[in-house]
Amino acid sequence: MTSMQNGQSKKKLDIAIVGGGLVGSLEALYLAKRGHHVSIYEYREDIRQTPLVRGRSINLALSVRGRRALKDVGLEQKMIFEHGIPMTGRMIHRLDGSTYSIPYDSRTNQCIYSVGRNYLNGLLLQESESYDNVERYFNHKLSEANLEKGSLTFIKTDTKETVKVTADLVVGADGAFSAVRRAMMKQPLFDFSQKYIEHGYLELCIPAGEDDGFQMPPNYLHIWPRGNFMMIALPNQDCSWTVTLFMPFVNFKKLDTEGKLLDFFETYFPDSIPLIGKKKLIEDFFGGSPSSLVAIKCRPYHVKDKALLIGDAAHAVVPFYGQGMNAGFEDCTLLDQLFQKHHDNLVDILEEFSETRWEDTFAISDLAMYNYIEMRDLVTRPSYRLRKMFDDFLFWLMPNFWVPLYNSVTFTTMPYSQCVKNRKWQNKMLLFCVTSAAVLAITLYFRGLQ
Ligand SMILES: Cc1cc2nc3c(=O)[nH]c(=O)nc-3n(C[C@H](O)[C@H](O)[C@H](O)COP(=O)(O)OP(=O)(O)OC[C@H]3O[C@@H](n4cnc5c(N)ncnc54)[C@H](O)[C@@H]3O)c2cc1C
Repeated sequence: MTSMQNGQSKKKLDIAIVGGGLVGSLEALYLAKRGHHVSIYEYREDIRQTPLVRGRSINLALSVRGRRALKDVGLEQKMIFEHGIPMTGRMIHRLDGSTYSIPYDSRTNQCIYSVGRNYLNGLLLQESESYDNVERYFNHKLSEANLEKGSLTFIKTDTKETVKVTADLVVGADGAFSAVRRAMMKQPLFDFSQKYIEHGYLELCIPAGEDDGFQMPPNYLHIWPRGNFMMIALPNQDCSWTVTLFMPFVNFKKLDTEGKLLDFFETYFPDSIPLIGKKKLIEDFFGGSPSSLVAIKCRPYHVKDKALLIGDAAHAVVPFYGQGMNAGFEDCTLLDQLFQKHHDNLVDILEEFSETRWEDTFAISDLAMYNYIEMRDLVTRPSYRLRKMFDDFLFWLMPNFWVPLYNSVTFTTMPYSQCVKNRKWQNKMLLFCVTSAAVLAITLYFRGLQ
């Protein structure tokens, strides 16, 4: 396929995207906008026609990196203003049921948005219908791939037929357990590591109140931090809450009777029981089983000019920074910039993506691991609140110079690795200031005695 652009003949590529989840369906829009011919192959049925699947996180926190990508494809306004629910900070639930809030950004009131996973995925797929150059194939499971040749074999899950296709470029957006990545692992010099944490998660639900409204203040991410475990809740459009209990698998195992479950909730989350309802708590808890959480690091992300990994397939992270999808969406934005920079030359695009992206995805992976400790434990400590006070004050004083870690990750598009570097020099500066102040105070004290 060719078209004339600026007097030059420019090849339009045939691109196969494996995985029509959040990242794959967004990438399809970016590529379609550039005029390439895109085929999305998705294992599941069309999400727009299936009811909610219990067990997958129902809602997600969308922040600036994700918003920027949605803006590029013309969907930010729809997503944020017609659907998203702003969350302006954390609301902490103490053991006695009392609460207090910690704003994310008291200086400029920036917030994150709670959005429905299925709604967002459906919206992206729906948008792809407006491009003639995008085709969608549901119930297609990738079973084999020769990435050097760009050839893929799918099994149709409904008819069991085999479908073989060849593409100029294969984009693996098939999630944490990516089949494309599995094929890539046969390449020499491909590094890969995966880490399961010993905590799992189970989703519960606080339904809408009797007046059909929210039972808790809606514009917060609610957290019940309990040291080695925690529960969080994000608001849904229908005024219900998706509640996620994160806890070591061994603790889940111990809650094997209704009595033990209710005792556990009465001890650790007493204020949540009337909100969830005892009957619903028991039904939801025993109706599901805890899911595992895995972090995946690998590199390089590409094979020659033929195949590329993006999203969770390239860098699944644990969900505690609310950045997995946002980072995947950022992959799409960065790729689009590289397509622009290298005039659709795949060799240069894929090489530069691999070389420049891994450091940032490794950084967000480590930050996400750290944030679990912050959310479930540190957030309740005076030292955390003191540091937050310092950070907020300095941010207010020097907004361009002192951007706190959470704000730089969530509300800017600063590369993740730079956010970490910033935090390190901020720590050094604070340590220097505190040490100097202490030395000065001691000196003045002893001088006063003389
Ligand atoms: C509990 C939890 C909470 C989270 N909260 C947040 C949050 O608040 N904010 C945030 O930014 N991120 C969050 N995340 C992370 C986010 O869900 C992921 O980063 C995001 O879904 C990644 O999108 P993806 O398209 O790369 O992968 P996926 O969403 O996993 O999509 C992959 C797609 O590929 C398809 N597929 C798989 N195998 C094949 C195959 N062989 N052939 C064809 N298709 C295939 C799948 O069916 C799926 O549709 C959370 C994750 C969890 C688990």
